[in-house]
Amino acid sequence: MRRFRKALATVGLCALLASCQAGGGPDPWMSIYEETGQADIPLVTATFYPLYDMVNKVFGNTYVGGEFVAPGLGQTIDFCGESDPHEFDPSDPQKLAAASESYLLVSLMDGFDSFADAVADQGMKHVRAGEVSGLTDLDGRPIDGSQGHIDPHVWLSPKRAVALFDAVSQAVIENYPDQTKVGQLEANAVAHRAALINLDQTYAETLAPFAGQLLVTSHEAFSYLCLDYGLEQFGIADFADNTPSPDRLAQMEDLIVDNDIHCIYVESLDSHTAVDVVIEDIGLSHRGYRLEKRELSALESLPYKQLMAGEDYISVMMDNLNEIAEGLGGQIL
Ligand SMILES: [Zn+2]
Repeated sequence: MRRFRKALATVGLCALLASCQAGGGPDPWMSIYEETGQADIPLVTATFYPLYDMVNKVFGNTYVGGEFVAPGLGQTIDFCGESDPHEFDPSDPQKLAAASESYLLVSLMDGFDSFADAVADQGMKHVRAGEVSGLTDLDGRPIDGSQGHIDPHVWLSPKRAVALFDAVSQAVIENYPDQTKVGQLEANAVAHRAALINLDQTYAETLAPFAGQLLVTSHEAFSYLCLDYGLEQFGIADFADNTPSPDRLAQMEDLIVDNDIHCIYVESLDSHTAVDVVIEDIGLSHRGYRLEKRELSALESLPYKQLMAGEDYISVMMDNLNEIAEGLGGQIL
């Protein structure tokens, strides 16, 4: 059943915009969706930011400062917005009503954005892009929902993002309601795929000199990145973001000092408390040891202010690459 934007008028636009952001004010993800002034434009709901960006690239949407510079052939809802997709509760009835207008829901995989099942109850087609991408986990097992809890952070490796994008773009195009326009969607997908392959090559070239080096992170979200580009990772919190035990913290302090590590990577959106404890402890037991924090984005959401500044998946991934290369002692790009 394909129902598009016109039907939203019955939901009540003001209520819709006001309800979507806990912090007050309109939710940019929803207002972008509302502001193009195009009626009956096909709509896709994505569970969280990296998938949202991929869908927008297939549609050909370009926007800066929360306004479309070039509206493409469809609109996209980022269902999580600024929330953490690991533990998101899709209870907002108005956001669910908006999502119900979609012809497609794109999620990653069971065990990560599992709230997608509740969104899919609205009746749209649902594709778990990670599960149909052909990607495997760190142990080479298929990411098909049959393996229990596996590391979901595949989008943080540009190499794997290409396969994920193939699955997303195929679903967006195959199910697009007006098949006379899919030629443009296919051209958009080819262009974005090339941009992702270019990102992969830039990662490979930039990180090659650091092969075998250790990336110490606050949250073990970068395992695929490390595996695909020759680095090792030790995270304070595991990939499911569980709080570290005192043993793990002690193990980490030894690892940092023994390996002469001078940089801990924290996530821009996370609390840094555990990292600060590690830095303080090392400072007390090893006087003069230099240890700095650098921020990486796990891209589980994109803060509104970054969206407004025109940032996207590729620009944030380039920021991550610069931080990694600089922290490991390389040149800034
Ligand atoms: Zn995560």
